[in-house]
Amino acid sequence: MTHTLAYGVQNATAPVAPLRIERREPLAHDLAIDILYCGICHSDIHQARNEWGGKSRYPMVPGHEIIGRVSKAGAGVTQFRVGDLVGVGCFVDSCRHCAACAEGLEQYCESGMIGTYNAIDPHGAPTFGGYSQRITVDENYVLRVPDNLDPAAAAPLLCAGITLYSPLRHWNVQRGQKVGIVGLGGLGHMGVKLAAAMGAAGVMSTTSAHKAQDAQQLGAAAVLLSTDAAAMAKHASSFDLIIDTVPVPHDLNAYIALLKRDKTLVLVGPLDPVGVHGANLIMQRRHIAGSLIGGIAQTQEMLDFCGKHNIVSDIEIIQANAINAAYERMLNSDVKYRFVIDIASMR
Ligand SMILES: [Zn+2]
Ligand SMILES: [Zn+2]
Repeated sequence: MTHTLAYGVQNATAPVAPLRIERREPLAHDLAIDILYCGICHSDIHQARNEWGGKSRYPMVPGHEIIGRVSKAGAGVTQFRVGDLVGVGCFVDSCRHCAACAEGLEQYCESGMIGTYNAIDPHGAPTFGGYSQRITVDENYVLRVPDNLDPAAAAPLLCAGITLYSPLRHWNVQRGQKVGIVGLGGLGHMGVKLAAAMGAAGVMSTTSAHKAQDAQQLGAAAVLLSTDAAAMAKHASSFDLIIDTVPVPHDLNAYIALLKRDKTLVLVGPLDPVGVHGANLIMQRRHIAGSLIGGIAQTQEMLDFCGKHNIVSDIEIIQANAINAAYERMLNSDVKYRFVIDIASMR
């Protein structure tokens, strides 16, 4: 066991503070990773504060947008070497033999993926996330990070990036298609960048006129104000795919009406759709679907794609002692677009 300095919470109301955790010594197929950067995801706040159905375990060390370097490799490791720049995303293991795992869709593992934090690993120990100096992970759940990407700005690709990349690929977005991204935040800004790199016309839909310029700078082909009924009517039945990243209740009918026949509105924010008009779906055979991050193979494909197209997240780097302040700012939507913790500031 290796003692590791981390930042985490002792209960649902405690602030994020330094604590000590233990990491296992690398087993045959494990990598020990010195963490360089960790992004802060909204789900970190929800889980730290026990807002997801009482499933939080304490002490908790959040963080699942992890970038680091391999410091030690187990004797059976074949895919990585000491010194490699690597990433760890939202899960660190899964059952490896169910239908989902067999298809490389570990995020939908029938036994439940093993979360990078707030879970119990196959060795019976609690998992602790990336707000820490080190982590030990089985090499099959570690990603290779292209060396040309800024490692700090690449961290959010491991959750925010793959959350948008996976539906863009699953619904087979093609060059020239019109793709809507609803909500300009940590997720939405990645959607705009990725859609543009795929050659699609990404249309940012937002409720705030002041976000229009930002969206265009990120590569949006157009901005559609959801509060502008005339503009919404003009875009009716014209979209090939819409990805909705907004995690709070809102009216989906206006977005469904934007889809062409047979096309899909994908929810990636944890949102319960209420008041959806069935006729809106039935009359044009439209779909509503959900999508959760991506499997290991697709996450690697996404990182390679981002390396090729030089795509990273827009970030603000913070010191470890500023995590609580960052949480408060995130709750006020005051970040463009992701906070990333400089783990070197952790002492
Ligand atoms: Zn996340
Ligand atoms: Zn499985």
